[in-house]
This record gives sequence, C-alpha cells and structure tokens, in this order.
Amino acid sequence: METLEFQSEARQLLQLMIHSIYSNKDTFLRELVSNASDALDKLRLESFRDKDMDVDVDDLHIVIESDPAARTLTVRDNGIGMTREDVVRLIGTIAKSGTAEFLKQLKEQQQSSSDLIGQFGIGFYSSFMVADKVTLVTRHPHAGGVRWESTGESTYTIEDVEDAPQGTSVTLHLKPSDDEDKLPDYTEPAKIREIVKRYSDFITWPVRLGGEDINSRKALWARPASEVSEEEYAEFYRHISHDWNAPLETIRMQAEGAFEYQALLFLPAQAPLDLFMRDSRRGVQLYVKRVFIMDDCAELMPEYLRFVKGVVDAADLSLNVSREILQQDRQIQLMRRRLVKKVLSSIKSLQSSRPDDYAKLWGEVGAALKEGLLSDVDNRTAILDICSFASTHSETELTTLASYISRMKEGQEHIYYMTGDSRTAVEHSPHMEALRAKGYEVLILTDPIDEMWVDAVPSYEEKLFQSVAKGQVDLETEEEKSAAAEKASEFADLLTWMGSALAEDVKEVRLSTRLTTSPACVVGDDHDITPTLEKMYKAMGQ
Ligand code: ADP
Ligand code: MG
Repeated sequence: METLEFQSEARQLLQLMIHSIYSNKDTFLRELVSNASDALDKLRLESFRDKDMDVDVDDLHIVIESDPAARTLTVRDNGIGMTREDVVRLIGTIAKSGTAEFLKQLKEQQQSSSDLIGQFGIGFYSSFMVADKVTLVTRHPHAGGVRWESTGESTYTIEDVEDAPQGTSVTLHLKPSDDEDKLPDYTEPAKIREIVKRYSDFITWPVRLGGEDINSRKALWARPASEVSEEEYAEFYRHISHDWNAPLETIRMQAEGAFEYQALLFLPAQAPLDLFMRDSRRGVQLYVKRVFIMDDCAELMPEYLRFVKGVVDAADLSLNVSREILQQDRQIQLMRRRLVKKVLSSIKSLQSSRPDDYAKLWGEVGAALKEGLLSDVDNRTAILDICSFASTHSETELTTLASYISRMKEGQEHIYYMTGDSRTAVEHSPHMEALRAKGYEVLILTDPIDEMWVDAVPSYEEKLFQSVAKGQVDLETEEEKSAAAEKASEFADLLTWMGSALAEDVKEVRLSTRLTTSPACVVGDDHDITPTLEKMYKAMGQ
C-alpha cells in the first residue's frame, strides 16, 4: 500500500468540500451517478471500437447500495473503470483548465464562493461534503484492480487488489448523523430515490436500488418538448456541461427526412472559466440513436460558439463514426450550418424578448462571439445583429448597431468607432474632440478582438465603419472644406517645416479640423495598424 499526496490545487478544493459552503449537499449523488454514467458510455464505445475486448456489455448499469448500520452509501458501475495510473492522475490531481484561476477568484471573493463552485463543477470531490472517508475500488478491462481511500485531508492511500469486479465502486462513509451540518439520512432508500429522480432521471443507463430501476431513462431530446420541464432540462444541462448553474436558454431542433437528427442545446448563464484559454473545449456531444459517441465535437459547432453546450443525436451515422469521417461528411456540414444559424437566431430572439438575459449573455460570452465576425464570414450579418457595444451615447448601457444607426445625425454617413485600452482612454483621446463637437456618436471598442474585426468588417446595413483615429475623418461641409483649404495654404510653410523636422517620426503633417481643444494629435493612415493592435502584436512577439 502506498500513501500519496494530493496535488496542491486538489487539496484546496477538498478543503472547500470538507468545510462545505455549498448549501445543496444532495448534489454529491448526482455527481457520482454522472461519473458512473460517463464510465458506462465509455465502455460501450470501447466495445464498438475494439471487437476483441473481452468484457460483457450486455447488462451495463449503476447500482446504489446503502447500509444504515455502517452508515455507508455505495455507487457502483460496471463501466470502463480506471487503471492505477488513471486513479492517481484523475482523482489525485485536478487537470481541469481554469483551476488556478478558479482558486484565485475564490480567495478574492469568499462570500460568493458557492456561485463560483457552480462555474467550476467539483465532481467526485463533492463526496466529501457528506462523507468523512471515501473508498474507491476500480478495475479497467486491461488492468488489475485498485483500491483508493482518503479522508480528504492531504493524502490518500492506493493499493492493488485481487479480483475487483469490472468497473468502479465508490463507497462513502457518511459523516455522523449528529454532525453539525444536520445532513439528511442518505442511507434511507426514499431519500436516495428522491435525489436520483430529481437529478438523474434522464441517465440512459438503469440506476438500481434494491433490485429496482429507479430512473425513467428517457433521453430528453427524444421526448416531446411539451413534456419536459425546465427543471429536467436544467439537470440534464448540469450533467453534460459540468456547470452547476441552470442554463440561460434551452434550444431544441429537429430535422426529419433524408438526414434525421435531434438537437438539444443550451446557452450558459455564466461563461465557462476556460472560455478564453488556449485549450478550451467545445460543448457539443454527438450521439447516434441515443448512444453517446463523442464529447467536444468540433465538427458540429465552430470555435466562436464554444460556450454552447448540448447534444446532437443523428440517426443515420454509423456508431463507428470517427472525426475524420465527420470532417468530410456533407450532411454533417449542413447540419452544423443549421445549428449555427439556430444558435444565432435564438440569441437574436433573446435580445428582443428577454433583453436583460440577452445583456447578461453578451456580458459573459460577447467577446467570444465577436471572434465569429472574423472566422464565420457567411454569418457575419447575423453576428453583427446580435452584437452590443459601449458608446458615447450612454455611460452605462450598451448599444446595438441598429440603435446606433437609428440615432445617426442628418448627413452622418459612417458608423464611427474608436478602439483603445479602456473607456476612459478612448474618451480622453484628442481624436474624439471633433466628433463630440459635431454631436456624432462613437462606439467605444475595448476588447482585444475588436482591433481585429474592425479591420475585416467593412460595413453594417451599408454604413461603413470608420475609425476616428485613422485617415481623414470626413466631417466637413463644402463650406468648411474650402475654408480649410484656404487655411492650409496660409500655413503651408509651417507645415512643410514641421514635416521635415518630424520626418523621422511621421509621414505627413497636415492641418486638422478635427481638434477643438487639443493643439495637435497623431493619426494613423487608413491602412496602418492602430496603436493597440501594434501593442498586441508586440506582446505576441511579432
Ligand atoms: P469530471 O466528471 O468533470 O471529469 P470528476 O471529478 O467527477 O470530474 O471525475 C474526475 C475523473 O475521474 C473523471 O473524468 C473520470 O475520468 C474519472 N472517474 C470518476 N468516476 C469514475 C467512474 N465511476 N468510472 C471511471 N472513471 C471515473
Ligand atoms: Mg463528474
């Protein structure tokens, strides 16, 4: 037997669970059933891929057993199991991207930590909310049995065991009943039944208690929409997204005919923590006729919609379908196009029917959505329709492009914008003066991605985007123009002299009508990169 230490992030999360701040402790069972279900999915998939694998997949199931006298509760599956290395890696460490960030945020805002748990999803460790010791016995089809045990303090023990059954069993040694937490009696069958019904009813594998199946096992996306409650959708969303919050919006789609499929997609109320990390995952799972095929299916959802979670169940694919096949499949490409359009149109209808929810969603994932302005040219207009931007029109409210246009002044031809590091920096820029004097509204773009899309997207509703920091912002009437030309000839000598004196640093010196209070400002050429973009490129080492 070996005694090993938890990785330090894992230790911190365990402490969090032991001194649990999360009020709804029943959810530990949902996490264990969810893991068991994933393990059964994986074993079935393996058995399709590897015909020689010597395991029995005829009766895949989950069993819950309780022993009131010993105060133990066991969740057992005959799924894929884990090797010794798997156990050390998967249970002893937290490899999830975003962990460090999550822990940092936790330290910073102690009071709302249960919301943060929602974003992170603690999974297996949630057992320690209700147990003071957890024993896990597991066996992978190609390996010997392993027994893991821990009290959730800094270490765990691990040892090889003879004749462990195929799959995994997790036994919780429940905290004493007089514990100050006043936990319900989780050994009580009625309690177990209630929790499974509430949180795990849709699990496709049988969940058994005392020889009886206690879940209805109906795939939500295959049931008529009118028969599925919001709570059921929310639980299913939690199962697939590992998010502990309810989704902001549920989207259902169905196609019949030559290529039949059903989709159940969700928009999150909070951005996943890894949304802007390099290895962030996409959230759509592929099923074929109710059988789980793969997670994180990039062929079904573009990267800029990586915050969308859900399931697509296609009737006419082979169970052996691989990523390579998916990439080349015309039907899959068509389906992806329809899914994207549906997601974008759902966000658009949120915008009009539930503006507060739309604003919340935009605040969480807007910066990711804007990446689509560059990568998804076909849907550019649909994306622009659902974008919101800060603007000089309001200190606090964002504006859509349509409302910007509706406020455009007589004679204004362009949608003016300025990019920069912050609202204050933009507002104090000398470039803004002339626009302010004219009463023209300017969009204030401060996300790094804004620098990129403004270069790629020429117009919206036939109105050209115009940076106030670039080239000649054409604000003058004919009269003003001839007055300006006169002035320029008056100052010609001065301008020539300044031009040569500053030749090292600027291309040209010209008289400006855009300034009202500042004496001078530096502008970029139409095709120059902006200062912020220049900084970004430098930061990326270019
Ligand atoms: P998540 O489910 O979000 O990955 P968990 O903490 O719930 O996180 O589980 C961590 C990992 O441990 C799982 O991804 C899985 O690889 C492994 N695991 C947990 N429970 C089981 C199980 N019953 N059978 C096989 N593997 C399991
Ligand atoms: Mg889990």
